[in-house]
Amino acid sequence: PVPVIAIDGPTASGKGSIATAVAEALGFVCLDSGVLYRLTAWEALQQGVPLDDSDALTRLAADLPVTFAAGGIVLNGHVFDAAQLRTEAVGQAASTIAAIPSVREALFALQRSFRRAPGLVADGRDMGTVVFPDAPLKVFLTASAHSRAERRYKQLISQGIPAILADVFAELELRDARDTQRDVAALKPAPDAQLLDSTDLSLEQTVEAVLALWRQ
Ligand code: C5P
Repeated sequence: PVPVIAIDGPTASGKGSIATAVAEALGFVCLDSGVLYRLTAWEALQQGVPLDDSDALTRLAADLPVTFAAGGIVLNGHVFDAAQLRTEAVGQAASTIAAIPSVREALFALQRSFRRAPGLVADGRDMGTVVFPDAPLKVFLTASAHSRAERRYKQLISQGIPAILADVFAELELRDARDTQRDVAALKPAPDAQLLDSTDLSLEQTVEAVLALWRQ
């Protein structure tokens, strides 16, 4: 089967940047699975679908009018600015709808369709536990809540988005709690995952550590 490198971890652990860099180094396809939850949440917010209407949200997820072209995300026939998905409001809404089992199931096939030769790097919360349980390499990426909040804060400021560190920290803890305590696909390492703590590592060092695990 086509190999998968599953990279799971909490909010702002650097999964996205690391998955992108690892995929580039290996020439693999990359899937940011959080984008699918964020897109579903985005559509729900646009259409005014209540975030507790499981049936409507499941239909939205199953029929997500999205394609992934080389140039980026195409939603409803238009190139979509992914930066719109990165807001805190969309992130919190995504984590709310991600707790609904039927929404998760509706997104399985789409996620698995990214598994193409020569290989896939997939990042999220349940890549190694649920979506790609046969992945030959599973990395569970951690970093202290403090350093994750600091990274997210610096990222926001560098994008010209006003932010307050204490608020960023509080929002991160809220999302961590929701993602780890939910009944379905709760964030936890797969039994066969390699734990990687990036608190004291640079992005380059973390990417190197993942590539070293892959070469083993
Ligand atoms: O990773 P990101 O912050 O983009 O994900 C947004 C939300 O989507 C997360 O807080 C999480 O609740 C949900 N998610 C998930 N499973 C994934 C990816 C994301 O439940 N594989």
